[in-house]
Amino acid sequence: MWTPTSWQTKTIEQQAEYSNQAELDDVISELSELPPLVSAQEVQKLRQLTAQAAKGEVFLLQGGDCAESFADCHQASISRKLQLMQQMSLLLMYGLGRPVVRVGRMAGQYAKPRSAHTETIDGTSLPSYRGDLINSAEFCAVKRQPDPSRLLKGYSLASLTLNFIRTTSPEVFQKLCQAQQWDSRQILGEQPSAFAETLNKVQKSFQLMHQLSPSHWQPLQEFYTCHEALHLHYEQALTRNIDQQWFNLSTHMPWVGMRTAKPDSAHIEYLRGIENPIAIKIGPRMTERWLCGIIEQLNPINAPGKITLITRLGHQQVAKKLPELIKLMQRQDYAVTWCCDPMHGNTQIAQNGIKTRHFSHISSELQQTVSLHQQHASVLGGVHLELTGEMVTECVGGHCAIQEKDLKTGYTSLVDPRLNPAQAIELSLNLMKAFEN
Ligand code: PEP
Ligand code: MN
Repeated sequence: MWTPTSWQTKTIEQQAEYSNQAELDDVISELSELPPLVSAQEVQKLRQLTAQAAKGEVFLLQGGDCAESFADCHQASISRKLQLMQQMSLLLMYGLGRPVVRVGRMAGQYAKPRSAHTETIDGTSLPSYRGDLINSAEFCAVKRQPDPSRLLKGYSLASLTLNFIRTTSPEVFQKLCQAQQWDSRQILGEQPSAFAETLNKVQKSFQLMHQLSPSHWQPLQEFYTCHEALHLHYEQALTRNIDQQWFNLSTHMPWVGMRTAKPDSAHIEYLRGIENPIAIKIGPRMTERWLCGIIEQLNPINAPGKITLITRLGHQQVAKKLPELIKLMQRQDYAVTWCCDPMHGNTQIAQNGIKTRHFSHISSELQQTVSLHQQHASVLGGVHLELTGEMVTECVGGHCAIQEKDLKTGYTSLVDPRLNPAQAIELSLNLMKAFEN
């Protein structure tokens, strides 16, 4: 029988080892009593929207940091991220002709899976950084120890972030989308000149819409959250029973990564009991049996909107792997919503040893994904990006022409490289073009 704690009887991957179990238990019981962060109605609404995305009626824009950091929980940086996602939404609504649903990797994207247990610098080995929910990124023996009090801090900062998002009014959103706001970010100068023309057209359409009915801005205010459901104690503590159903009320849409998605694993056991829409990350190593196994466990009644498949196959493998996956889902008649993460299959190490991604590879995977779905009578329902509102230099390429030698100058990501606003807007324009073709 499923309960919010039944995952504890299963094999679990990617867990921090806490030295003080009693302190962890205290924190979990405290968290279990605290108010939820999102509502069951909102979760159900997003599940409906996810079902609509599978039919091409709406488009999901998922985006945010690879790893949110406690230190970045600032009014200015949250505003800039919201502004960027609003602007991308406007472009995509115009280009795709569908409403865009924003789902931030925000307000809880604090736990990270890691490929190595330890990190070694100059002969000293310490436990890997696992996200601010668990330990500190600082390379210090004491700060790398998992600290249960971080779960409470993560909960508090997630709630502050969400509160700020919710208090942003439609008028503010509307202002964020005005022309001068785009100019001030120096994004225009970094885009091809055709961009100014497109932007002009987009703004004219929205002005017209606004004159017809100011309430048209209202849907743009809707904002949902997602994070990787990795730290199961945290997820369990925020799992609540509402009208005889269980919901994870720490986020609207939790996802599971392949490192923790084995059939019958603790993470799949936890996720199978909740009503939230669930996303599954799919890399090139995913097998047909494995994928069908977890879909059967997570969605035994094949309900639409329940499962989103986020493919992250890499620009070189997508053409071979994606058609196999699409055909498999069609053969099985599984109701799934397709989303493309063009970031994680394209990570590479630059010559100076820094983790980066090439804009051309990211854009290529996204464009190939759009046309592969079209060729196979399938629907791409969304995109999943790592991005920030700050002008960072983490991914190379794009019209802003970041080169490997620039990576050191503005690299603040704690884990994976993110698109800066200029690159994120350029990618949105490329996505619009791919849909037009
Ligand atoms: C991520 O989304 O940051 C991540 C770790 O992704 P994946 O599991 O797809 O590598
Ligand atoms: Mn990442």
